[in-house]
Amino acid sequence: MTTPDVRERRPARGAGFDPERARRDVPILHRTVNGHPLAWLDNGATTQKPRQVIEALAGYYSHSNSNIHRGAHTLAREATELYEGGRATVADFLGASSPEDVVFTRGTTEAINLVARTWGSRNLGPGDEILVSSLEHHSNIVPWQLIAKERRARVVPIPLLADGAIDQDAFADLLSCRTQLVAVSHASNVLGTVPPVREMTALAHRYGAKVLVDGAQAVAHFPVDVQELDVDFYAVSGHKLYAPTGIGALYGKPEALAGMPPWQGGGNMIDQVSFERTTYAAVPHLFEAGTGHISGPVGMKAAIDWLTSFGHEAVAAYETELLGYAQRALAGIDGLEVLGTAPDKIAVLTFTLAGHDPMEIADWLDQDGIAIRAGHHCAQPSLRHYGCTSAARASLALYNTREEVDRLVASLRALRASGG
Ligand SMILES: *Cc1c(COP(=O)(O)O)cnc(C)c1O
Repeated sequence: MTTPDVRERRPARGAGFDPERARRDVPILHRTVNGHPLAWLDNGATTQKPRQVIEALAGYYSHSNSNIHRGAHTLAREATELYEGGRATVADFLGASSPEDVVFTRGTTEAINLVARTWGSRNLGPGDEILVSSLEHHSNIVPWQLIAKERRARVVPIPLLADGAIDQDAFADLLSCRTQLVAVSHASNVLGTVPPVREMTALAHRYGAKVLVDGAQAVAHFPVDVQELDVDFYAVSGHKLYAPTGIGALYGKPEALAGMPPWQGGGNMIDQVSFERTTYAAVPHLFEAGTGHISGPVGMKAAIDWLTSFGHEAVAAYETELLGYAQRALAGIDGLEVLGTAPDKIAVLTFTLAGHDPMEIADWLDQDGIAIRAGHHCAQPSLRHYGCTSAARASLALYNTREEVDRLVASLRALRASGG
């Protein structure tokens, strides 16, 4: 399979995307749950895997399994090529200038912690400020709180507007010469909001601040170009992108990564080791101590090739249309309130239903084979913005259909009619 040029930004006019093409490739979508076909509407938590990814993993372990960067034998070379091939694909997918700008991590959480521990320990000091949007997942809040405490810096929340967009006036007011870093997600996992990251980055740079973007929810849903956004760091998770769990990536601008001290010590990250003096490997290997998830990049490459084979713009357009359909359908249900109505949003529908606890809603839908999430979604501040501690969430992906949205709506109506 060839990788289409992801930097091509022409809208796929006329080249409509057909979700059935994607559905055919994803085996789990063809199982039943409680006697009904599975409707997987929990893509914000994780996505299902196409057979291309499953087969790439099986193929790697059946044919090329070896440790990498060591051992002068054929399998070590093959495994290294596959691992580095994954890096090149991720770099291309994100619009990085070079594969060396991409560090493999366990996922978004580890990528952000890496930056907080290394960049943060070197660049944060007493009185410095880290601006963190109130949309953020806990993994883009807590690492900053931990390093801020250690460095006597401050985490300052950027407030939201009523519709769940980031308050841009407040953001502009909060920026100052004390701001060292701005942490913002490219798409909220609760409200769906897609903030104007390029504009926010340009403004932050005027104050000399760095910008870290949490792209966990963005990259599966619309094309991203880190160079065009001009961000300093960009974090992603494979498993939200149709790839395996336990693998993700951190993009860093070359000059940002070059200024970061080592993180974990061990194999792979060194050049020479002696008790007198140890020297280190170059970026990105410097940040990849130990034996990593070697099959992870293999799966990530297969997932990215699969997604981009449909045309990423066409997929984004399809998901936006499906979001509109779902919003109109849910609006017709009495007592249902959707949280997060920013004009720019991905297909995430977090909602409350009067008289029904979110857990009860999820259980009810599960009986009909429909998987959604209930709870705080690891982003308590964004729910608190709406005075909630818990809500239900349906999150859509390229393989979801209008028919599945109809089933969601019918099941919710039945729950209302059940007299709760
Ligand atoms: C899922 C998610 C994360 C955390 O990703 P992990 O894969 O669990 O590390 C961070 N941010 C957002 C917006 C997410 O949706």
